[in-house]
Amino acid sequence: MHEYHLFRQFIDKIEEIAKLEKATKVTKLHFSIGTLANITTTHFLEHLNPLLKETIAQDAEIVITAENDLDSIKAQQITLVSIEFLDA
Ligand SMILES: [Zn+2]
Repeated sequence: MHEYHLFRQFIDKIEEIAKLEKATKVTKLHFSIGTLANITTTHFLEHLNPLLKETIAQDAEIVITAENDLDSIKAQQITLVSIEFLDA
């Protein structure tokens, strides 16, 4: 079970950045999943994809890096690494 809240935060962040950058379309999202985050890539997408629908990032390519560094400070986290977009 994973919290809706976490995924909602990603969507809010993406929309905030898109707005700041005056993006017309988000083309690519890169996430990193820490080795202790306890979620598979597939399951991550099951949460994320429904929330992306009807947003500026609905057609974005999603790239996910599954980290395996146990000692990373982000080992327990899912991180939005980068976002690519088209601007006006
Ligand atoms: Zn879940």
